[in-house]
Amino acid sequence: MSEVMNKNADVIVIGAGIIGAHCAWRLAQAGLRVSVFERSAPGSQASQAALGLLSYHADPEKTAAMQDLVLYSAALYPDLIDELAQFSGERVDYQPGGQLVIALSEKDLPGIELSHKLNKRKGVQVEKVTPQECRLLEPGLTPDLYGAVFFPEDAWVDNTALTMAIVQAAEKDGGVIKRANVEAVEIRAGRAVGVHAGGELYRADWIILAAGSWSGQIGGIPPTPVKPIRGQALAVAGRAVRRAIMSAHSYLVPKGDSQTMIGATVEQVGFDDTNTLAGLQEVSAAGIEMAPRIGQGEFLGAWAGLRPATPDEMPMIGPYLQAPNLVAATGHFRNGILLAPVTAQLVRAVVTGENPSLDLAPFLPGRFSS
Ligand SMILES: Cc1cc2nc3c(=O)[nH]c(=O)nc-3n(C[C@H](O)[C@H](O)[C@H](O)COP(=O)(O)OP(=O)(O)OC[C@H]3O[C@@H](n4cnc5c(N)ncnc54)[C@H](O)[C@@H]3O)c2cc1C
Repeated sequence: MSEVMNKNADVIVIGAGIIGAHCAWRLAQAGLRVSVFERSAPGSQASQAALGLLSYHADPEKTAAMQDLVLYSAALYPDLIDELAQFSGERVDYQPGGQLVIALSEKDLPGIELSHKLNKRKGVQVEKVTPQECRLLEPGLTPDLYGAVFFPEDAWVDNTALTMAIVQAAEKDGGVIKRANVEAVEIRAGRAVGVHAGGELYRADWIILAAGSWSGQIGGIPPTPVKPIRGQALAVAGRAVRRAIMSAHSYLVPKGDSQTMIGATVEQVGFDDTNTLAGLQEVSAAGIEMAPRIGQGEFLGAWAGLRPATPDEMPMIGPYLQAPNLVAATGHFRNGILLAPVTAQLVRAVVTGENPSLDLAPFLPGRFSS
């Protein structure tokens, strides 16, 4: 194994999904020499499988720290879209059309009541909607509705276009994307020295671990319990609904005027990211239950991706105790698109020594070390 002695990067980022690419961009903007190691095409994994929902609202299942992270990141979105447009001259499709969360049975009602109460208390805009109002807002929905809440501030973004725009911005600002599989991180005497790839050791002052579902598979790293959770989704022709609609089992997301996406399964099947008939049956049945006309829509295609999940379903962001110049930016599970802007901001703060805009303690990777 040879060692690349001339350090040609201040920072090595492992993974060019939306998280790694966004971290790389912010670090390159800070004047650092950044190399991103990506073993396949940038943005080709979970970041392109996502459906692009930006749910600004707090979820009753989220901790207070996670709610703050979500709200903070969501608020960064409009400026991010503007910044990328100024940069490239092209505007990533971002639709702040709100999201309707519906109860399809009586037993779904307490959940949406709780969500309404919790979000009101948090200062998030939320309105109760009767089944009659729901049908006026969304004529394509089933008449079998028990109630709903509307989050007018929720948004949708074209996550594939966004990820590619961020990758290009990172490159324009000097970041270098290297097609290579990182086999291991080398840690010596409490410091990360570099990464092993293709028989070489590449050195850097900082290593950012942003390898999504594969983060825990890289040799030499401290405990990183990230596991893949498969999500299968599909698209049909036509705009069946006007805005994103969420039920307890599924969600519908319009993409432009010509498509409706239906998501998504939540499956523990290891690193298998194939589509299955059973998975697609589950997703289509749930979609048809919400908006029956979808059943007649032309099938456009299906896809699957692996969400990177931690045991407490919160991301790992920040330095490892065992090597403080190795920084985690992984485990974003169902919210990686939404949380990319805040993650990049926090990682940049750690590397440049600025004060982080939010308390990192609940997200530090050390919480899984004991
Ligand atoms: C069906 C589905 C729907 C979703 N919907 C939403 C949504 O609506 N809103 C939302 O916010 N989130 C959503 N998500 C979650 C979101 O997609 C993820 O949280 C996010 O994409 C994670 O980004 P990432 O960069 O960490 O991972 P990835 O995009 O998976 O990127 C990781 C990258 O690391 C690379 N890599 C891995 N190991 C190595 C290695 N050893 N060496 C070099 N490179 C390596 C991989 O090739 C990959 O490109 C959804 C996910 C799925 C699957």
